Amino acid sequence: PFDVLIVGGGPAGASAAVYAARKGIRTGIVADRFGGQILDTLGIENFISVNYTEGPKLAASLEEHVKEYDVDIMNLQRARRIEKKDFIEVELENGAVLKSKTVILSTGARWRNAGVPGEEEFKNKGIAYCAHCDGPLFAGKHVAVIGGGNSGVEAAIDLAGIVKHVTLLARSVLRADPVLQDRVMSLPNVTIIQNAQIKEITGTDKVNGITYINCETNEEEHIELHGVFVQIGHVANTEWLEGTVELNKHGEIIIDKNGATNIPGVFAAGDCTDTPYKQIIVSMGSGAIAALGAFDYLIRH
Ligand code: FAD
Repeated sequence: PFDVLIVGGGPAGASAAVYAARKGIRTGIVADRFGGQILDTLGIENFISVNYTEGPKLAASLEEHVKEYDVDIMNLQRARRIEKKDFIEVELENGAVLKSKTVILSTGARWRNAGVPGEEEFKNKGIAYCAHCDGPLFAGKHVAVIGGGNSGVEAAIDLAGIVKHVTLLARSVLRADPVLQDRVMSLPNVTIIQNAQIKEITGTDKVNGITYINCETNEEEHIELHGVFVQIGHVANTEWLEGTVELNKHGEIIIDKNGATNIPGVFAAGDCTDTPYKQIIVSMGSGAIAALGAFDYLIRH
């Protein structure tokens, strides 16, 4: 059996693997896609001490760093079940069952797509999902935010301080907390359009506009702009854990300050957990916490 088995090979899992392996304990990492979300990211400017990098390059460095150590990397493997018996068992989709004294869950999350024409085509070419990450790229420009919930309104408020103008498009009425709604409505460079059904994100080599149907008039409208932030939901990759590890109402794994879940010996880190602010640097920090938490558990059990 492993001492520490990590499920998920993004920034959180890679960081946990390095921290665990440096304790000289038997460490394994199972990943559906080693690298995680950063494989889909182009420019990264907020990974502190690295002024600029690109996702695939950072993913390659993560892998290289993990490979410096004696870590059993099982890439292109998905976990589908976890169960605590004598050891903690993790079953893979190929039927194999891995056993470990501790497990760190770092299966990350995904942004819900708007699912409209143009979205796939212009990802990283004007379409963004994270205002903290990509907001400054649109300084002085006109952007739209899709989504009238808390994350959409928060992004609109955030972006209003950086870009020239924000158009916030909500499918129905705004559903964000009243305090956020008051704040966004007070901003002079934000236009709010409710009851807007997005039809298409347009562009040539990059985004140049958005077309929507005004559901009150049934008219089709087009706005010219440089960027679109899609903010209609962030989903943790935890469906396979339902009924075992305790999740909050958003499907995020509930952890304590040592990264421990409700199951003794099972820890979690990164975007799949209930910690706020889903960022690379935050995920790496929480991977370190979970690995040290797991090590502490091992020396006491
Ligand atoms: P992830 O990166 O999601 O990794 C999850 C890992 O788990 C993957 O290896 C996945 O294959 C694996 N996995 C999932 N389910 C299973 C399973 N059942 N079995 C086995 N493996 C599984 N953050 C920044 O700080 N700066 C940025 O500029 C930035 N830009 C971004 C741009 C985009 C387009 C996106 C999508 C995100 C961006 N982020 C950025 C956010 C950042 O990528 C995430 O916060 C970070 O990757 C989270 O790391 P993680 O390890 O928790 O999860």
